[in-house]
Amino acid sequence: MKAAVYRGKGLLSVEDVPRPDPPVEDEVQVRVTRAAVCGTDSAEWDHGPLLTIPPVILGHEFTGIVDSIGPSVTGFSPGDRVVAGAGVSCGECEWCSSGRTNLCSSYQTLGLQIDGGLADYVNAPASTLMLVPDDVSDDEAALAQPQSVAMHAVRRSGVASEEMCVVLGAGGIGAFIISAARARGVGQLIALDIDAERLETAARLGASKTVDVSGVDLVEAIRAATSPDGPHVIIEATGAPHAPAACFEAVRKGGRVLLVGLQGAPREIDLFALTVREVEVTTTLAHVFAEDLADSLEVLRTTDLFDVVVDKVIGLDQLVDEAIRPMAERRAKGKIVVDLTR
Ligand SMILES: [Zn+2]
Ligand SMILES: [Zn+2]
Repeated sequence: MKAAVYRGKGLLSVEDVPRPDPPVEDEVQVRVTRAAVCGTDSAEWDHGPLLTIPPVILGHEFTGIVDSIGPSVTGFSPGDRVVAGAGVSCGECEWCSSGRTNLCSSYQTLGLQIDGGLADYVNAPASTLMLVPDDVSDDEAALAQPQSVAMHAVRRSGVASEEMCVVLGAGGIGAFIISAARARGVGQLIALDIDAERLETAARLGASKTVDVSGVDLVEAIRAATSPDGPHVIIEATGAPHAPAACFEAVRKGGRVLLVGLQGAPREIDLFALTVREVEVTTTLAHVFAEDLADSLEVLRTTDLFDVVVDKVIGLDQLVDEAIRPMAERRAKGKIVVDLTR
């Protein structure tokens, strides 16, 4: 079968590899139909390995058809359309027991540490799979995992529908977060970015206001777009070095800042100002399969998210030239989906 094999920095190629062994125990063998490409995939190619353990087949955002099942699998049959949450958790540790499966002490992700879905076939534990509703297309289902990560982020932010919420960064995960906040009923949803096209996408996804913040003071821009007191919630989705400090300063007294974007190095923060204003700082990682993935499928079923965020659908052979490289060079215009049936 064909698969995108990652072997280290700059080393990613589509190769002929053996098909996975027939599924054992609780494994399901999935014939992949679509797999979306994540910023993480291109970051691993550009300056990894960071999260991956090479050699590994990439692809943690995929959907497909059940080909065969292991002897202890219940709930899935050959022919079923499924989508993967991709996170593999043990179900037994302290974190799994309290429902925080994304923090499992032995957490692994298909497509990062174990072989994933940028391939014709992949073996996945049944616990990582969910049936796809008939009225969600294969294209749409390819976005279920990133949308689920956004559902988790917005849930972690605790934002209520009547609160003013700023999303900093409308590209990549930011677009999915805007869609998730809209689904949660947030009415005053302000998207900030430095790219006009991404802001246009944000507006189509339901942002009530969009602001181009290129070359302006971020704190002043956030206050001007919301209120002199600042918004109740700011979701930082850029990972830009100066962004967290600006969020902490711009948020309302007693407000909340959710950090989504990953920082490449330690940053200096004015903790005095943070403390005396009782600013709450929250973080988020991946998603909780049991809580977020079904909500994500519901968003995909009820919105035109795919049409708005997806730039193009390509074949697996074009993966590096048409997706990974342009994404690393920040030339990609939106989400890119690979059609494995081509
Ligand atoms: Zn991802
Ligand atoms: Zn666990």
